[in-house]
Amino acid sequence: MYPGLGDQSGGYSGGYPGQQPGNYSAGGYGQPGGQGGYAPGGPGGYGAPGGPGYVQPEIQQWFNAVDRDHSGKINSEELQAALVNGQGKNFSDSACKLMIGMFDTDHSGTIDVNEFQQLYNYVNQWISVFRAYDRDQSGSIEEAELSQALTQMGFRFSPQFVNFLINKSDAESHTKITVDQFIVLCVQIQRFTEAFRQRDSEKSGVISISFEDFLTVALQCSS
Ligand code: CA
Repeated sequence: MYPGLGDQSGGYSGGYPGQQPGNYSAGGYGQPGGQGGYAPGGPGGYGAPGGPGYVQPEIQQWFNAVDRDHSGKINSEELQAALVNGQGKNFSDSACKLMIGMFDTDHSGTIDVNEFQQLYNYVNQWISVFRAYDRDQSGSIEEAELSQALTQMGFRFSPQFVNFLINKSDAESHTKITVDQFIVLCVQIQRFTEAFRQRDSEKSGVISISFEDFLTVALQCSS
């Protein structure tokens, strides 16, 4: 949902990005994007070699290792046990549930190997985005880095709001966010931005919203 680097020419107002390009910018940061939400685009996305249904051998190996009970499906707990965030911790509950939810097309609460391949690519894209913005390579994104990241994604947020985002994401030290927190934060901003954009037909940066519509957006976007 984010525009690529330097896509700030749209003349939009209100602090959120304008029309986004269909895909990543050249040399871009692997940002999941494209029309229609959080499906990975760009290299290594859905169009894996071999056509639909083809699973790369190394991804099949990964899948088998993550699928601890050998059920042929991966649930949120199994995924969590497999993903570390660079700070010596596993990905959070909320990050794993969020990502399973994105790729669990049959709403079973689990993903199969094909869905896993998509998720794997998606996570890797986010990790490269994260690394690009973690300029001092500390393994976490501090306030100044987040501010820069959001600006490059096309947002114009106040320092107070960026500070609020850091505080909200990092419940412990309120100073930095890890890659799993970064994914959750970006996906939520992405979803709310899209919901806002759909209602802001004049691109004024201000919308009028009914109570029920507000609740629908809030409950949908934060799940
Ligand atoms: Ca950093």
